[in-house]
Amino acid sequence: MIGGAELGGTKCILAVAKSPTEIIERKIISTKRPEYTLAEIFKFFNNFEIESLGVGTFGPINIDKKSKEYGLLVSESKEGWQGVNIFSEFSKNINTKISLDTDVNAAALGEYFYGSGKNCDNLIYVTIGTGIGVGVLVNGKSYTGNFHLEVGHIPIPNPDQVSGVCKIHGECWEGLASGPALERRWKMQGSEIPESHIAWEKESQLIAYGLISIVANHSPDKIILGGGVMKQSHLYSKIRSHFKKMWNNYTPLVDLTDLISKPGLGPDSGIIGSLILADGEPAQI
Ligand SMILES: [Zn+2]
Repeated sequence: MIGGAELGGTKCILAVAKSPTEIIERKIISTKRPEYTLAEIFKFFNNFEIESLGVGTFGPINIDKKSKEYGLLVSESKEGWQGVNIFSEFSKNINTKISLDTDVNAAALGEYFYGSGKNCDNLIYVTIGTGIGVGVLVNGKSYTGNFHLEVGHIPIPNPDQVSGVCKIHGECWEGLASGPALERRWKMQGSEIPESHIAWEKESQLIAYGLISIVANHSPDKIILGGGVMKQSHLYSKIRSHFKKMWNNYTPLVDLTDLISKPGLGPDSGIIGSLILADGEPAQI
């Protein structure tokens, strides 16, 4: 049996499974302060005999296996978590082999092996929810660069001069287009905003700005958009239409319904990806 843990900004999904797609038991807990959340996680996994455990976690986190600080959360992106070493905590408290990657790289892996990213040499997974995170796979391996990518924090145009919610940069992509940014701007929960509301056109434009940057930098075969905001499925066509206008036929692209698509695994991309991490060494380039 293998274990998977997807640690997100709002909730953590825990699972034990026979294989990445054969989950036997799962549990969802809310992400609170680390001492409480980690104790809940360890309690769950210590009920099972697992051969290995894959963890896809929020960051920013050191995922360089050669570093002495492998597993260290380096910023206070979630209150109380800066300075927590996820790898050491899991290794100390669960007696099994631990593999680690970012939550978005895990989700990209899930989609690459079992979802809508099959056969994509260059695959991007973007989550738009509590924050914006981006995982990049090249030939099935996560591209991490020197630390790991933080594409959610690129600057984007801000045509309506809205103030952003990113604690570090204010008006970066995440600061302007994440779920909390949307809700602060329109003073409503995303789920309460009607489909015809101008908020969604504005949101689609802000999302498309970031996608333009991704396509310009990575020329991917596919960009999969997941996360809480993307539960509004009408957004996909609006985003494609803004993207098309902005790209302006600069280079030939595959059909935009293929280029910008839904997760084939729905909300399970991250947990299935974490189980893939458990199943083998996380391959990074
Ligand atoms: Zn930012």
